[in-house]
Amino acid sequence: MYRQTLTQLAAELRARRVSSVELVRAFLARIEASQSTLNAFVTVTAEQALAQAEAADRALGAGRGGPLEGVPFGHKDLFCTAGVRTTCGSRMLENFISPYDATVVSRLKAAGAVMLGKLNMDEFAMGSSNETSYFGPVRNPWNPALVPGGSSGGSAAAVAARLLPAATATDTGGSIRQPAAFCGVTGIKPTYGRVSRYGMIAFASSLDQGGVIAASAEDTARVLREMAGFDPRDSTSVDAPVPDYLAGLEQSLSGLKIGVLKEFFDTGLDPAYERCVREALAVFERLGASVREVSLPNIPLSVPAYYVVAPAECSSNLARYDGVRFGHRCAEARDLEDLYKRSRSEGFGAEVKRRIMTGTYVLSAGYYDAYYLKAQRVRRLITSDFARAFGEVDLLMGPTTPTPAFELGAKVADPITMYLNDIYTISANLAGLPAMSVPCGFAAGLPAGLQIIGPHFAEARLLNAAHRYQRETDWHLRIPEAYA
Ligand code: GLN
Repeated sequence: MYRQTLTQLAAELRARRVSSVELVRAFLARIEASQSTLNAFVTVTAEQALAQAEAADRALGAGRGGPLEGVPFGHKDLFCTAGVRTTCGSRMLENFISPYDATVVSRLKAAGAVMLGKLNMDEFAMGSSNETSYFGPVRNPWNPALVPGGSSGGSAAAVAARLLPAATATDTGGSIRQPAAFCGVTGIKPTYGRVSRYGMIAFASSLDQGGVIAASAEDTARVLREMAGFDPRDSTSVDAPVPDYLAGLEQSLSGLKIGVLKEFFDTGLDPAYERCVREALAVFERLGASVREVSLPNIPLSVPAYYVVAPAECSSNLARYDGVRFGHRCAEARDLEDLYKRSRSEGFGAEVKRRIMTGTYVLSAGYYDAYYLKAQRVRRLITSDFARAFGEVDLLMGPTTPTPAFELGAKVADPITMYLNDIYTISANLAGLPAMSVPCGFAAGLPAGLQIIGPHFAEARLLNAAHRYQRETDWHLRIPEAYA
């Protein structure tokens, strides 16, 4: 059962060939059996899930229920869940219980999805390896000595090991696509503003976007359809109709113009990974698409621009954790300043502190123009590069990451090497574009990801391309041996 995609499971449930309670029990057992190795979950909500599954079975029995009725599901632990703690992978929020659900959570609940728990992640979504979590690292189901990627490492590892058919995730600089690539699963980061950020704990507000990780593009389409849409409670959410992402999945790719991002093949790309990506491009050609090289000259500036903008915004967003209103409070504060200082020193980990300090520095008087304003200008140049490219091609493609998953501990001591992991993913966030990662083979036995980037609000086009590719290939159906 666990080998089936979310799409198949939803159909089985609706046809009453399996009950939600049976499914939830089966996945809970897999979660429990894997937790000591993978550490994909911060919190498992077994009791609540079983009660919800019973209700889903009643609804399905009466011919009612939403499109995801009874489907087991998980949330990255930065989506607020009423009554269930939301830690954001941090000691700061270790015991935080939100009084309300994030919009994404309430929408998926309304669609009938059953939450089995909250997924581990890098602290405040800052990281590329899931090693910054206060709750310990997540491990890669393909090889537990390797990282699953980050920051949505729990979501990606859980789907890869089939502990869940799908999970929410977020992407500020690559945190959906990079772990999806490392774990051999499918992930989509929608256009900035497509999915509500209400109740999604903020890291860098002009870049953060919620999305989904699942086994197949079809599965992600099915979930995104429920998640996406205008939310009056998020002022950056876009008031535009949500197309039916499932409706166009089968469309022919004949005549589709694909641009291959030259800069993504220039430096540091693992040769075996490159071969996987080139083979994937050949599949698209066989499907009738045309492929040609496109250059985006300002793309190499993405990482430096991002590591000014993201820390600047995080330093402002994380100012709210002051030990007063919510989150960790130090013991026996002497005075207000001592309360702030010790609560924040104790509550945040090293990477979060590094970002807050960098961000505070680049925003300070005298440096604002030199760093923050300059970075925003670079961001504009990158956005213009993309706009020019999308005047000529329908989609851009390239590798998701420069290498497959690396070993735990390999990059923790050197933040710059760690940051360079996001070299291919960050530009889509800076420009607010939708982007996906789709499994496209194995480089030295480890999953490789094909990245697909589209113009604003072209999610349906991305999903269509990814789905047609997945009908020709079975990389997305491969399951790590230990979990097969
Ligand atoms: N790895 C990047 C960072 O550390 C991106 C994280 C993310 O997308 N949340 O900031």
